[in-house]
Amino acid sequence: MAKRAARISDVQEKEWTESAGTAVVGIIILIVAAVVLYFMQFYVPPQMLYGYRIVGSLAVVIGGAIVIAALYRGTQVSLIKRVPVNCPYCDTAINFDAPPTTDFDCEHCSRTVQFLDGVMVPVQTIICRACRTEHRVGENVSHYVCDRCNRPLLLTPTKENGEAVVKVADFAGKAPSNDYMDVLLTAFDRRHETELAFKLQNILVTNLPDARKMMATASDKIPLVIGINLPPQKAESIKRSLQELGGQVSLRKHGAAGQTPQRS
Ligand SMILES: [Zn+2]
Ligand SMILES: [Zn+2]
Repeated sequence: MAKRAARISDVQEKEWTESAGTAVVGIIILIVAAVVLYFMQFYVPPQMLYGYRIVGSLAVVIGGAIVIAALYRGTQVSLIKRVPVNCPYCDTAINFDAPPTTDFDCEHCSRTVQFLDGVMVPVQTIICRACRTEHRVGENVSHYVCDRCNRPLLLTPTKENGEAVVKVADFAGKAPSNDYMDVLLTAFDRRHETELAFKLQNILVTNLPDARKMMATASDKIPLVIGINLPPQKAESIKRSLQELGGQVSLRKHGAAGQTPQRS
């Protein structure tokens, strides 16, 4: 099994961080050795000065070599072979160090690009029956919630005149509800407080002062429930939109916590 493909941006960050750490060590050795080398003439007996100078100079050379090696390693990062992979949802190219074979999150649109047995799950374009919005959805998805009009859609692959098509029907609520999720807010970034409050105001259908009050109560122990009993796709989409505004969001299987109020 080949090693997991890594994003070039992650590889770069790791390499640069490690190179910088090594360079700092080299610089410290260099400075300490130079200072000792300078001051030893005042403290070391003259007959031993020669030996000490050799050791001190050696330390300067070693320190210098470590710094140069670290800088060299930093420059090598840009030479790593890049394997660009286009996100099937937003077409942004993401660079990897090897062809990816497992799920990854697109850093541009935040959607998870799925793989099945090492092969990327193809994406199809469907059109919402209600608002005619086009969506790109993985071929393995059987139900989807239109994030424009919130309508749950049932996707059934069929054949029409010998061509494979997807039938988009209204979702009768028959899909297994045991994978339905609750969306919980546990913390948020104060710098985006206002934007997040506006978003919550919309989702929770409340006013801005109340949205702010509710946000302020959110914590790890007592999270603020943003959505209840939602299809996974919808829960994921709300989670993403809140995370974009600095919210810390977790998903929980509906009913997992016991006393969650039921959606009527
Ligand atoms: Zn994308
Ligand atoms: Zn729609």
